[in-house]
Amino acid sequence: MVARVILEVALGRELDYLVPSELEGQIKPGTRVEVPLGRRKAFGLVTEVAKDSPSPNLKPILRVVATPSLVTPTVLRLARWIAEYYCCPPEVAFRSVLPGAVRHPDADWRRRLYVRLTPPQGPLPRLSPRQKEILHVVEERRALPLTELQQLTGANVATIRRLEDKGLVEIVPQIEERDPWAREQILPTTPLTLNEAQSQAVRAIVEALDRLTPRPAAVSDPSPDARPGAPASPGVFLLHGVTGSGKTEVYLQAIAAALERGRGAIVLVPEISLTPQTVERFKARFCTGPLRTLVAVLHSHLSAGERHDEWHKIRQGRARIVIGARSAIFAPVQNPGLIIVDEEHEPTYKQEEAPRYHARDLAVVRGRLEPAVVVLGSATPSLESYHNARQGKYTLLTLPERVDARKMPRVRVVDMRAALRSNRGVTMFSPQLREAILQRLERGEQVILFLNRRGYATALQCPKCGFVAQCPNCSVAFTYHRAGQRLLCHICGESRTVPAACPNPRCGDPAIRYAGMGTQRVEEALLRLFPTARVQRMDSDILQRKEEYRRILGEFRAGKIDILVGTQMIAKGLHFPNVTLVGIVHADLTLHQPDFRAAERTFQLLTQVAGRAGRGDIEGEVIVQSFTPYHPAIQYARRHDFEGFYEQEIEFRSQLRYPPFTRVALLTVRGRNEEKVRFVASHLRRELETHLAGWDDLIMSGPAPAPLERAQSYYRHHLMLRTRRMLQLARELARWLHQVRLPEDVRLTVDVDPVNL
Ligand code: ADP
Ligand code: ZN
Repeated sequence: MVARVILEVALGRELDYLVPSELEGQIKPGTRVEVPLGRRKAFGLVTEVAKDSPSPNLKPILRVVATPSLVTPTVLRLARWIAEYYCCPPEVAFRSVLPGAVRHPDADWRRRLYVRLTPPQGPLPRLSPRQKEILHVVEERRALPLTELQQLTGANVATIRRLEDKGLVEIVPQIEERDPWAREQILPTTPLTLNEAQSQAVRAIVEALDRLTPRPAAVSDPSPDARPGAPASPGVFLLHGVTGSGKTEVYLQAIAAALERGRGAIVLVPEISLTPQTVERFKARFCTGPLRTLVAVLHSHLSAGERHDEWHKIRQGRARIVIGARSAIFAPVQNPGLIIVDEEHEPTYKQEEAPRYHARDLAVVRGRLEPAVVVLGSATPSLESYHNARQGKYTLLTLPERVDARKMPRVRVVDMRAALRSNRGVTMFSPQLREAILQRLERGEQVILFLNRRGYATALQCPKCGFVAQCPNCSVAFTYHRAGQRLLCHICGESRTVPAACPNPRCGDPAIRYAGMGTQRVEEALLRLFPTARVQRMDSDILQRKEEYRRILGEFRAGKIDILVGTQMIAKGLHFPNVTLVGIVHADLTLHQPDFRAAERTFQLLTQVAGRAGRGDIEGEVIVQSFTPYHPAIQYARRHDFEGFYEQEIEFRSQLRYPPFTRVALLTVRGRNEEKVRFVASHLRRELETHLAGWDDLIMSGPAPAPLERAQSYYRHHLMLRTRRMLQLARELARWLHQVRLPEDVRLTVDVDPVNL
């Protein structure tokens, strides 16, 4: 027998090894092994086992490191798919499916010494009062950690050992799970009575589950689904439901159905919404009753030890449900029947380093491989997913209303052009927003002010008419570059000098300038306008500091902060009943990013932000300030009209051949020397033109500087390739990458389906 092994060192391919006869029973796909490599040894994962191999002179596998398999066969296939589609070396793809916390040589269960009561044999030996006292504690607890017993009784180890010598207790190492939730009190919940839309959704998902789980066909079973040999047709559902429409309850009941059918579930949520409350909802539903199971949690804030334990809980089948951030898509859930991706439109599902996979797309692929039912949920689905639903590739499920029939908040759009005219000097807060904030402060209600993240590209915008300069080739906003007073397209590289006056023929105002302001300035302006208000800023710097983040949210919830100023993170699933006003200070900042998804992102942000207002008993209000108030992304968001926005946006994507009508591969050249980076990028474009000559549906744009051009003292220039046949293009690119020669200090990366340009 031979085994194909993917090593954890950079080889760029798999190697075959002989399976020594004494190891035969142990080696399966997913087994971790140690093998010889030249004169050294290396670790690797068995990906396949076969009778023989085309390669001569095979060396034998040295030993099995971990048995049984750490990775399920489907996940192995998924890793292969990642390597191919995302154009990365196989070892990089395989490394990502097995967390370091499991792969690391020291990774193991934590064992602690426990003192355990032994069954009494014969008459009780004579004990000192001290010994009796210790024994009494052990009798009460039956078993407890040695250190705890020492603390409780003040006894030293020698004293306790003497009890062991007398055969009354034993001191043994015992596995102790690292459970970050151990101290949480979880109160069981029961399924809610679903409303009509929810029941329809659950029913559809369960029917699809039954199609993939052929029940043993009893003679008396009239169910048409039980037909033997019915093709397993995996289903992908897009669950489109406004915030608060009860999507989570749908997930919970669908998971229950999967468990009843002996299958597990994977739930992906964006890292940021993986809050204790979210996790608790899942744990609480499955902590008792006949469907009782552990719910494992996987995310980046766990310690390595905790991650190890959670992973093995899943692998051993004690946890049938896993909830986690994007890498949880690789969790070794046994026989998963359901894969749920909540907030499927979230860009954070995309991994921004190799392998650059998109966890939502992997969910669909894994669903097909298992097969398992996939549910993508969102209040603002991605254009890609909604398009798939329209095309009939996915089944659309809709929850049109909030569960409590509470109205969507009123959204007011303030025309900042008018505000500026009537109110010279103050451009940050319109009179309407100022008035609204004042009102809330007087009533003791709370306000969230939303501003885009800093460090964004800035567009050139006329404050008088709202005109934004756009690239004629790409229909994305030109970016203003102070140096050289130029406008630059970050997709195709087109460049212009900054006009002296507004180019809009009906305007011609000379005051045209770049738009932009930072969160700090908003805070300053607020303090000037409302000197007694308690204002707190919350931006990405703060998110890095977990404790700080928790503290601020806690204080806000407790009413110790009046106005929270923040970036997009406060748009996510947080629930503050006393927030009755959400202000979007400058909607244009997101709207005019040099990215073809700028309008989609703006629509999503406005909708999500609006979902934060009025979750309590008081009706909420949203105020959006913009210099382009007529923009469809703003107008459709104002009316809570996703369909309308979709129709409009899909037309634009179709005309300019952007996704979902094509798929994008972004090739980025990075280096410290700008001249060299620019030169290499142009050179690569010419090479690609030759290499891909005859590729009929290819669109190549650039090279152009990447929008955040000088990130961390690196210059980055990129080329954008678009095609309908990405898998083939990825194969072509992989071949090409093998032969590309680059200067030493220049790096080239390929990002397939990028979410950020
Ligand atoms: P979403 O995930 O769509 O934002 P949730 O599932 O969080 O919505 O539901 C919002 C609130 O409504 C939650 O407090 C939930 O417990 C409650 N809820 C959901 N479904 C029902 C139902 N059928 N009956 C009563 N309350 C429900
Ligand atoms: Zn362009």
